[in-house]
Amino acid sequence: MTLKAAPLRLSTTSASFDAEFKARLHWSADADAAIEKVVADILADVQTRGDEAVLEYTNRFDKLDAKTLPELELTQAELKAAFESLPAAQRDALEAAARRVRSYHEAQKKASGESWSYRDTDGTLLGQKVTPLDRVGIYVPGGKAAYPSSVLMNAIPAHVAGVGEIIMVVPTPKGEKNQLVLAAAYVAGVTRGFTIGGAQAVAALAYGTATVPAVDKITGPGNAYVAAAKRRVFGTVGIDMIAGPSEILVLADGTTPPEWVAMDLFSQAEHDELAQSILLCPDAAYIDRVQAEIDRLLPAMPRAEIIAASLNGRGALIHTKSMEEACEISNRIAPEHLEVSSSEPNRWEPLLRHAGAIFLGAFTSESLGDYCAGPNHVLPTSGTARFSSPLGVYDFQKRSSLIEVSEAGAQVLGPVAVTLAEGEGLQAHAEAARMRLRKI
Ligand code: NAD
Repeated sequence: MTLKAAPLRLSTTSASFDAEFKARLHWSADADAAIEKVVADILADVQTRGDEAVLEYTNRFDKLDAKTLPELELTQAELKAAFESLPAAQRDALEAAARRVRSYHEAQKKASGESWSYRDTDGTLLGQKVTPLDRVGIYVPGGKAAYPSSVLMNAIPAHVAGVGEIIMVVPTPKGEKNQLVLAAAYVAGVTRGFTIGGAQAVAALAYGTATVPAVDKITGPGNAYVAAAKRRVFGTVGIDMIAGPSEILVLADGTTPPEWVAMDLFSQAEHDELAQSILLCPDAAYIDRVQAEIDRLLPAMPRAEIIAASLNGRGALIHTKSMEEACEISNRIAPEHLEVSSSEPNRWEPLLRHAGAIFLGAFTSESLGDYCAGPNHVLPTSGTARFSSPLGVYDFQKRSSLIEVSEAGAQVLGPVAVTLAEGEGLQAHAEAARMRLRKI
């Protein structure tokens, strides 16, 4: 039987549009009780037995036969050797991507990641001091596939922020180390690395063990076990976000070659069966042409089965009344990746409010952003772009308020503080402010 990918066809003029649209979008981020139980047990065990527990789970889940946890540490020499063992084209590509990601995040730091202060008219200084985190853990997924680009996207902003130590964890099923991942760690400036993964790696980073140092924050994507573990250790350490399945939304005005759009929908669908690809377009004939390209291109795709499952399960081709309406629907979805595949992208961009990353114009394929354009590819999913942002330098910094009240300032602020403190019944607060009032 020939494989067919037929994303659901919807039209905003249909009376059932709202219901069908909601059903297709639905994604439950609710915790899976069985996974929660497994993860809670692993976290508790690592907290109690440290290295020994991490070693046991790693040997079990990743099919290793290590005798001690220190054996699973990656040395700097190993990272360097991995980089040097790569073909020149791969070394150059890694370095080119790293350079662009670094420049982007350096610009981000300059724009919004520096300390600032001002003095008011009484000479009182007010401001904010920005400091990097001391030590962070980056989780690099490795169960079913290897993600060297994720190493760059997590470690480089941490490095640019000035983080003291970057600890990478990456599972290596059957002990097979991916040389590109190790090389990316070398290029990105990872301080220490361990070939451990899953909930046990998250626990080791959060609580610390004899071998793995405790960190202040854990970033990076992973499967359901990793996500559940990150949610549970939040509070002991910081986390970046809980990532759901990946998504792309293409807003097309019908001017981009339809095979480009079809391939962009595939590029998200090939991640996994739950990934979501949606096209919004006011031109019904163009949607037919995209579907024809999907039919033509699918058979040659190595991951055709995953693509078909994703497009048939959660994909949609939506006919809208206008580009304006397409923008409105896009804002309701708040997609992780939003391509504005139009000859006039800057006309539509001001209408777009919620998206992890906005790719403007026909030449800006999401895949260029995924690897090497510069911006971060760790983005909010499942509609969370309504209230959160891409991973960035700011995730590896924290801010302290700075206040230096001058003698004149204390005379102005004192009476205000005294009145409010007495209103709250906090006499020591009131006295501390009053003592600084000059006797006239
Ligand atoms: P992973 O590293 O997240 O998970 C592998 C680990 O899961 C194993 O080492 C094991 O410890 C644990 N595990 C597996 N089965 C278990 C079980 N039955 N009980 C307890 N623990 C178990 O690797 P993965 O599985 O390949 O998942 C990677 C995920 O990350 C995918 O969902 C992928 O889409 C996602 N991802 C997202 C991005 C992004 O930027 N959003 C980038 C890359 C990958």
